[in-house]
Amino acid sequence: MRYRARPGRVVLGAGSLSQVAAEVEALGLRRVLVICTPRGRGLAERVAGTLGDAGVFDGARQHVPADTVAAATRACEDLGGVDGYVSIGGGSTVGLAKALALSTHAPVVAVPTTYAGSEMTSVWGVTTDGHKRTGRDEAVRPRTVVYDAELTLDLPVATSSASGVNALAHAVEALYAPDRCALTDALAEGSARLLASALPAVAADPTDVQARSRALEGAWLAGTCLGTTAMGLHHKLCHVLGGRLGLPHAQTHAVLLPHVAAFTLPAVPAAEDALRRALGAADAADGLRTLTRRLGLPLTLAELGVTDADLPGVVGELLAEDPHAPRPVTRDGLRNLLHAATHGA
Ligand code: NAD
Repeated sequence: MRYRARPGRVVLGAGSLSQVAAEVEALGLRRVLVICTPRGRGLAERVAGTLGDAGVFDGARQHVPADTVAAATRACEDLGGVDGYVSIGGGSTVGLAKALALSTHAPVVAVPTTYAGSEMTSVWGVTTDGHKRTGRDEAVRPRTVVYDAELTLDLPVATSSASGVNALAHAVEALYAPDRCALTDALAEGSARLLASALPAVAADPTDVQARSRALEGAWLAGTCLGTTAMGLHHKLCHVLGGRLGLPHAQTHAVLLPHVAAFTLPAVPAAEDALRRALGAADAADGLRTLTRRLGLPLTLAELGVTDADLPGVVGELLAEDPHAPRPVTRDGLRNLLHAATHGA
């Protein structure tokens, strides 16, 4: 077993947005680019106003298109150069900050407004001509993460639920990752417990700051799992489906998670037990299915537009990637899994 503790600072609590300026100063940054989406511009300008010479770039888009990286790089040059980035938004926004940090190695301060968990990982991705290149590089892992549940209050219920199950998937896969250890096991089970209780509470009352805070805490632990362990069959499958068919990221995770769990968990009883405890369910895959149904999330890939004709290509591409799973991934096994996920068997 090898475990490498990751450096990094986490500030968590409702209202902690007010700490961003102090955190930027603590890193010794003098001029930063604040990155957001168009809808986050007002908030980003408010934060930039507390950061001296900071500029704002509001062009973050899903899957980090290369032209967005180029435009953000020009925004940095227009400012006369920057020595750091502050991302305020979901996985797409921190994704752009990471893409910039990949070449400059300037520190990233992340302020997540969804539960995707990207802020805790060294995984980056950039899309060129429809192809998303990804990799891991310690230079892109945010140095400081500020979790403020108040920023998530206007995240729509459907997006909150899907994003939360995206986080839950990080925890589930960490429970059977080849490089898991006692610490990641504890983080994964704790994360699943937090998310399984917080997400229905958020769906019932999206203004419940306590539930939102617990969901962010779950996302933090789940992101830490993803940032520490290797991705397996579930993440690879989501990546292939997303890349080939342009499916929505978080919803794809939500549909597939119970199916991949039903496929993998019988081979890893300790992971199954941990998840049963966390979900309070007699069967872990059933528990995940019950949770996604209760959250009103899509239950089939067909609802996301996938047809039977799409499946052979997905199977072929996935097998070529040789994904890690705790049991052999055969062509037939994969075909059955995807057929069940497409039609909701
Ligand atoms: P996202 O950042 O695209 O956000 C989803 C939607 O929510 C967007 O429309 C966004 O504008 C909106 N939104 C965000 N915060 C909001 C708020 N507070 N109120 C209202 N609306 C808000 O998507 P995501 O689900 O956060 O992240 C998914 C992306 O992150 C994918 O591209 C995925 O590949 C990437 N990701 C990367 C990693 C990693 O480790 N590199 C991990 C997880 C996800």
